Amino acid sequence: MSTDSPDEKTAARREPVTAYVALGANLGNAGAALRRAVQALESLPLTQVRHRSGLYKTAPLDTDSGNEAPAPGADYLNAVVEIETGLNACALLDGLQQLELQSGRERPYRNAPRTLDLDLLLYGSARIESPRLSVPHPRMHQRAFVLVPLAEIAPQQVSAEQLQAVKHQAIEQLGSGLV
Ligand code: AMP
Repeated sequence: MSTDSPDEKTAARREPVTAYVALGANLGNAGAALRRAVQALESLPLTQVRHRSGLYKTAPLDTDSGNEAPAPGADYLNAVVEIETGLNACALLDGLQQLELQSGRERPYRNAPRTLDLDLLLYGSARIESPRLSVPHPRMHQRAFVLVPLAEIAPQQVSAEQLQAVKHQAIEQLGSGLV
């Protein structure tokens, strides 16, 4: 059996789970890349897109070290979608990483500009710590480009205090509909 794609039988869960995925791009036609990515998420096995945020423009930011620092490259376009999926979290991550690769993404160095970045923010109420997957995403609460679009489609997932903590980060809403 191929391990290259999430197989429907091994990846299936009994109950569908609500999950949130952050999308970002700052190379090429970033808006088109995000719209294509949302359509591609719909084509993952056992997965439907339920809600999509508007499109946001943000300056590149490095939060990997726990501190905020400007990162190289053009401004990003960002959005967040809510999906319902019968994939387990690992199979979902496989699917997200395949979509990144299909978009032509390369990883020449940390924080390199990217044609598509897909992060799994939340997977139901699961807490996951494995070598390749941490959920909730460990840096989501440091990033306005995640919290603002997430609060737009799922206000119950973001507190006023969390939004306040990233209020100094510049973020501009470009439109109310991602596609
Ligand atoms: P990035 O370069 O920001 O796309 O990071 C990708 C790496 O983070 C991959 O090696 C993933 O296995 C890992 N990773 C850990 N947790 C997550 C998550 N919640 N969503 C996406 N990637 C994750």
